[in-house]
Amino acid sequence: MTRRRQIYEGKAKILYEGPEPGTIVQYFKDDATAGNGAKKGTITGKGVLNNRISEYLMTQIEDIGIPTHFIRRLNMREQLVKAVEIIPLEIVVRNVAAGSIVKRLGLEEGVRLPRPLVEYYLKNDELNDPLVLEDYITAFNWATVQEMDEIVTYTLRINDFLSGLLLGVGIKLIDFKLEFGRYWKDEESHIVLADEISPDNCRFWDIESGEKLDKDRFRRDLGKVEEAYQEVARRLKILPESNVESIKGKGPESI
Ligand code: ADP
Ligand code: MG
Repeated sequence: MTRRRQIYEGKAKILYEGPEPGTIVQYFKDDATAGNGAKKGTITGKGVLNNRISEYLMTQIEDIGIPTHFIRRLNMREQLVKAVEIIPLEIVVRNVAAGSIVKRLGLEEGVRLPRPLVEYYLKNDELNDPLVLEDYITAFNWATVQEMDEIVTYTLRINDFLSGLLLGVGIKLIDFKLEFGRYWKDEESHIVLADEISPDNCRFWDIESGEKLDKDRFRRDLGKVEEAYQEVARRLKILPESNVESIKGKGPESI
């Protein structure tokens, strides 16, 4: 295959120009960072697993009528997506206290929040992705009021949907981060879900044991990091092995 032109290299992915105009190839790396790059390492096989987990979750989200950038997976580490104009915000939803909110408000990790809380962080590594207010977002034109309404509506729907989907496989969705972008079509821009949804940017806890099945294992040196990512994929039944089985098998999928 001809080597595509690299557009950007981030902490977890590389973006290449896609085969058609308006498309991008996301290449998922095994690199892992924490604390905005303060801690660096690799998680063997993470890129392959995140590519599949994100494909699976984005496809499910698209199926409930929320537009996403996902087009199709190309191979083990790459997926084709629509090129969007990224809104420079990280949208975080929290169901249970963990991570920065525990420190900020002095909460106990693991307590259920009164209702899902939506937070906005400015995507700016130099400033350490600061927490921002909706008033800042509209005043500095990072997004319009209408765009924020749509983003929050989509985000809360995604939260409800993913919480249920994960509950079904024994995982509690503690919190997660989303990125949205503007997709231009017929001179109009539409909000679409972009980036990725994976254990890199979600907190997943086993429903029974409370065991962490996400990047916190890397952040906090808890060990069994690769195993946690594999476990999430295994529960979602999307490990490459189980896929081979379902292709071979004569289950309802082959009818
Ligand atoms: P970072 O280190 O900035 O988080 P990543 O390694 O996660 O970067 O690489 C993905 C980058 O690509 C992010 O900056 C993200 O905002 C951007 N991105 C994700 N999806 C799209 C898309 N569909 N179109 C354009 N840019 C995207
Ligand atoms: Mg990123």
